[in-house]
Amino acid sequence: MSKNFDFIIIGGGMAGASCAYFLSGKGSVLLLEMESQPGYHTTGRSAALFAPSYGNAQIRALSIGGQPFFFEPPAGFCEAPLLTPRGALFIARNEQMQTMNDVYDDVSSVLKTVQKLDVAQVRELVPVIREDYVAGGLLDIESMDMDVNAIHQGFLRGSRANGTEQVTSAKVESLNRENGDWQVTAGGETYKSKVVINAAGAWCDQVADLAGAKRVGLVPKRRTAIIFDGPTDISFSDWPAFVDVDEEFYCRPESGAMMGSPADETPMDPCDVQPEELDIAIAVDRLQQATTLEIKRITRSWAGLRSFVADKTPVVGFDPEAEGFFWLAGQGGYGIQTAPGMGRTSAALASGEEIPSDLVDLGASKAELSPERFA
Ligand SMILES: Cc1cc2nc3c(=O)[nH]c(=O)nc-3n(C[C@H](O)[C@H](O)[C@H](O)COP(=O)(O)OP(=O)(O)OC[C@H]3O[C@@H](n4cnc5c(N)ncnc54)[C@H](O)[C@@H]3O)c2cc1C
Repeated sequence: MSKNFDFIIIGGGMAGASCAYFLSGKGSVLLLEMESQPGYHTTGRSAALFAPSYGNAQIRALSIGGQPFFFEPPAGFCEAPLLTPRGALFIARNEQMQTMNDVYDDVSSVLKTVQKLDVAQVRELVPVIREDYVAGGLLDIESMDMDVNAIHQGFLRGSRANGTEQVTSAKVESLNRENGDWQVTAGGETYKSKVVINAAGAWCDQVADLAGAKRVGLVPKRRTAIIFDGPTDISFSDWPAFVDVDEEFYCRPESGAMMGSPADETPMDPCDVQPEELDIAIAVDRLQQATTLEIKRITRSWAGLRSFVADKTPVVGFDPEAEGFFWLAGQGGYGIQTAPGMGRTSAALASGEEIPSDLVDLGASKAELSPERFA
């Protein structure tokens, strides 16, 4: 006998977990995750920065629309704040100053608080940035550190409390539409539902293949991160994250050490991605060119897949041809910071409702998110 649900979500990362959380009051929900730990892939490998000015208009609408949830989550969601002040400092070399001015014009249309800084002001905030490297900066004080694990666990726990069933070590192996229902096999069981939600991260196009749906052209891109010892002669825990204005690298304090990334974007097939020595070396080289940091000891490195479609806008909505097949894909480098906005949007659309009006007022658009744009 197969078990029946109103919704089956494939993938227990941030996308699937946040969707389950907001969907769980609207019908019976099953969440299937192929790994034994739902945060094993991209969700557990992020840089944990909430940057409201990051990304295109849809990303910004979903990020800013999720801020109230992050600041005041429902009772019992978490034990400590989900966001803590950090700030993001974009830095530019001489030849990047035009880009910096363009970024300022763009970002200041969304964030009134963004400020231009001269070299002295940049170095007052992050004294290790080389005086002969930097020509100017932009400070965004609204960027925050996110507690990714608390956010993810809050969504998983909250959706379980609302009745969502969660099964781990359950890789979806087949999807067949029979008599108006999806038959889903995973972990040796068969389940049924009217609606299947494809939140499989880097594997979303592979899951579409199982359903016989047309791919959306998702490209998983590897991004590398390293943790290294911070300077010993200066306090650095309050430094903002500093980011090359062309996103050639970024760096920030992280639990008593420093985190850096070469901001690499190497296209890959979906997999359990590992860091490459060359990308680690590039990260070290770029950071040492820009700063006086001496990176002698790397204590940890990792890589994760950020998955994008061509227009870098997430794909959220029912497939135009495969009935009952709902896309929740292409979260790119923004899937944590957009999670409350994306969770509410996907839950509304999957249950036949409209996108919540507060998100629409910020610019969230059913048409721009829809998979119909690939038809
Ligand atoms: C280095 C790095 C830095 C980043 N920094 C930030 C940041 O600062 N801020 C931000 O907001 N975002 C950031 N991101 C992006 C963010 O991490 C992602 O957008 C987000 O985690 C994507 O979540 P997801 O649920 O779509 O994917 P995932 O977390 O990968 O979840 C998908 C899940 O689907 C499961 N799955 C796949 N196929 C199947 C199947 N057949 N059956 C069952 N389960 C299946 C997988 O096991 C996986 O657990 C960063 C990413 C990286 C790599």
